[in-house]
Amino acid sequence: MREQPGNEGEGRPVAWHALPPEAVLEQLESTGTGLTEQAAVERLARHGPNVLQRERGDSAWKLLWRQINSPLIWVLIASAALAILLGKVTDGLVVAAVVVLNTLIGFVQEYRAGKAIQALGHMVPESTTVVRDGRPVALPASRLVPGDVVQLASGDRVPADVRLLHARNLQVEEAALTGESVPSTKRVAAVARDAELGDRASLAFGGTLVTSGTTTAVVVATGSTTELGRISHLMEQATDLSTPLTRELARLGRIITAGIVLLSAVLLGVGMVRGYAFSDAVMVAVTLAVAAIPEGLPAIVTIALAIGVQRMAARRAVIRKLPAVETLGSTTVICTDKTGTLTRNEMTVRALWTRDGRYELTGVGHAPEGQLLWGGKPTDAPPEDVICLLRAGVLCNEASLLAGSGQDGAGRWRLTGDPTEGALLVAAEKVGLGVADVRKRRPRLDAIPFESEQQFMATLHADGPENRDLFLKGAPEVVLRRCVPETGGDAVLAEVERMARQGMRVLAVARKDAPGATALQAEDVEDGFTLLGLQGMIDPPREEAVAAVKGCHSAGIHVKMMTGDHLATAEAIGLQLGIHSAERPGLTGARLSALDDAALLQAVKDTNVFARVAPEHKLRLVRALQAEGHVVAMTGDGVNDAPALKQANIGVAMGITGTAVSREAADLVLTDDNFATIVSAVEEGRRVYDNLIKSLAFVLPTNLGLALILMAAVAFFPIQEAAGVHAPLMAMRPTQLLWINLVATVTLALPLAFEARERHVMSRPPRAPDAPVLNRFVMMRTGLVALLMAAGAIGLFLWEFTREGPGRDASGPGRLAEAQTMAVNTVISFQIFYLWLCRTLMGSMREVGLWGNRTVFVGIATLVLLQAAFMYVPFFQRIFGSAPLSAGDIARSVLAGAVVLPIVGLEKWLRSRGGRRHGGMTPFHPSPTWTSP
Ligand code: ADP
Ligand code: MG
Repeated sequence: MREQPGNEGEGRPVAWHALPPEAVLEQLESTGTGLTEQAAVERLARHGPNVLQRERGDSAWKLLWRQINSPLIWVLIASAALAILLGKVTDGLVVAAVVVLNTLIGFVQEYRAGKAIQALGHMVPESTTVVRDGRPVALPASRLVPGDVVQLASGDRVPADVRLLHARNLQVEEAALTGESVPSTKRVAAVARDAELGDRASLAFGGTLVTSGTTTAVVVATGSTTELGRISHLMEQATDLSTPLTRELARLGRIITAGIVLLSAVLLGVGMVRGYAFSDAVMVAVTLAVAAIPEGLPAIVTIALAIGVQRMAARRAVIRKLPAVETLGSTTVICTDKTGTLTRNEMTVRALWTRDGRYELTGVGHAPEGQLLWGGKPTDAPPEDVICLLRAGVLCNEASLLAGSGQDGAGRWRLTGDPTEGALLVAAEKVGLGVADVRKRRPRLDAIPFESEQQFMATLHADGPENRDLFLKGAPEVVLRRCVPETGGDAVLAEVERMARQGMRVLAVARKDAPGATALQAEDVEDGFTLLGLQGMIDPPREEAVAAVKGCHSAGIHVKMMTGDHLATAEAIGLQLGIHSAERPGLTGARLSALDDAALLQAVKDTNVFARVAPEHKLRLVRALQAEGHVVAMTGDGVNDAPALKQANIGVAMGITGTAVSREAADLVLTDDNFATIVSAVEEGRRVYDNLIKSLAFVLPTNLGLALILMAAVAFFPIQEAAGVHAPLMAMRPTQLLWINLVATVTLALPLAFEARERHVMSRPPRAPDAPVLNRFVMMRTGLVALLMAAGAIGLFLWEFTREGPGRDASGPGRLAEAQTMAVNTVISFQIFYLWLCRTLMGSMREVGLWGNRTVFVGIATLVLLQAAFMYVPFFQRIFGSAPLSAGDIARSVLAGAVVLPIVGLEKWLRSRGGRRHGGMTPFHPSPTWTSP
């Protein structure tokens, strides 16, 4: 921040709001037409980039506390304390160490995932219009310097603190700064020096949002010297990593904990009845707790979600709010824009209409090469009417057309600005009107910019000292309403209808005199115009959108088009895309407004094309769809789309053409503005959810299995009577259980997060959003596998413990260690085989292919090495009480584990037959709104 010179005293910032615009420009050594590029570069070096340094306040501590503050961890901590109190110091310390380790792993994972998601939030760069060297250019907001002159319009985020130079109907929402969400009106006039922040109407602050109007303003502060920069700690928003699924899992954790506490009490009782020492009985209960808690699960879930977010970003869908990853998977309706999302947004004017009739214009792309045809034959000299129509299209226009430079650019033309307007420039060039020349001859005095709600744009031009041309262009209905009656008429409407039915977007252009005017007011464009003609432009559908719409239909997802365009245009494009059919006519926004709520519910079911819709219609439609039980993804790009985006289950904003306001409100930002990208994101969302269910189906049986093994040990195993001890025979030690739960399970389960999508992922109905995670499928599978695992491990444990052979002492600790190692080995071997079955929920191994997921091999190889260390490395033997096993023993445990293959294979086969009978391949409850396509 520059300091106020001299008499104002040192260190006080300049009261820019109290100075008139000229004084501000003078102090900043700038002009109304901005800085030169060179001056800007110098200032950038002096002031630094215009970015906010975000600090992470105490949220790291909060994150750490979140890791510790789970009932499961408390049970573990209590277990460790108890063990130490009872003299089992090693066991206690290992449990404690595991708690610490687990907390750290969880912390690091969540911290990194949070960072990654925050970084994604900034992935869509904000650009801003700056006047440099006297010309407006689009630059990243980070390059702004004090003294820069910026142009802002509704939907923009204010890129830095700015002092207004000119403003038209400017309203700014300052919630980011003041918390006030009602937009405040801004004016150029200076305000009192001691005005509060909220009353400094001549300033707009960085980070706030322009909700309507336009302004030209000079930057007075950038980066951390802005008002927002000074309070940036307030902006620090903890990235919430909880999703419906993680909350459901937390609930599951609480249920498991309650079960464990109960069971431990029972075991304690049983142990006492069987005559154990109290401390031994307590140790058994502690061991059970360690066994049954899925310690590795939180890390697995967080990683799977983070991988999902990253994969979506790679497919050009940037997640702004983590729960969206999951919600996407249960989307039942996608409501989408037409222009640019379903179509290519490459507009080409194909038809011109004036009083004389219809002309065709040939040529493709942005190159201004084409011919004007009349009745199918080239015209050598374009008639005056056509020239007037095209000239007006050039003047009432914000776009620019640049010829490419350099060798390869020779034939290339680059358009900046709205493609609809760009097309008008190309059309004019085709008949020989030079855009630059036309604009120089009639300098623009004022303009009312295009807004989707109003559907028109107007500009005022000087043509000589007194003559003024006032041009109006926009949707035909809107323009014709403002024309004098004799220039409108049925012929025009018939032509509009005809162009629209050919899928063309139609603009009407009109003109009127405004002698001596220097500025435009809303009432100047109310009436009195003369129609110059119509321009019809094509915008071909994106090829990938056709396939994506098909994909949605087979995935049980409805697609509805909501556009500001003409109904006939929308229907024609909808037909080409497979969204529209002749039996289900589209609806216009005006007709929608006339419907009551009941009729609206019906309309929303029957209709797929909605035209001339305004943001408030979108909001109503989302609500109606949600009332029908739908999970709605809705696209939006304008300022006023924000409420509909927030209301939708998945608000989708456009990374290229969208406004900052819409992006802020969205859950998902498409970096390519492409409809097909929404569908990829849905597919990815379903994959992530599938893989989480796979992880659950993989992890939970181990915990139940371990709990069963221990309970059996206490209830049925012979009591160990050796060297005077009267102790329970434990099939595994607490440290060994943790080895299985944390090391083996996590190593094996992580590869599941990389599993490719299921073959049927997009040919099954959407999952009901409230479907429980622990559905019947997961529970039955858990029970079955846990029983098998427990039987195998107990069997081999007892066999190893009781078998006689050369070199075995009768009942020494060596024998117990071997038997316990055997039990651990058996469980892990079970897991390795079961992992293959978890790679696909329903399908067979043949479907996913042996080599389909290389990370599975990495996981298994890693675990085999770790397990070898567990058995043979003395250090591990000391910590875990493990013993080396013979090759024959290892073979036995591997064979026992392999049992899971045929049995669960049979279960899958039976289930898939049953599934087919019931007409679906889904392991989930399908959404209630889903009706077979
Ligand atoms: P979409 O949903 O297709 O993006 P828009 O809200 O952008 O619809 O446009 C609605 C209508 O407004 C169009 O059918 C067209 O007639 C008119 N229109 C679009 N762009 C402009 C523009 N830049 N200037 C004037 N009128 C426009
Ligand atoms: Mg548009």
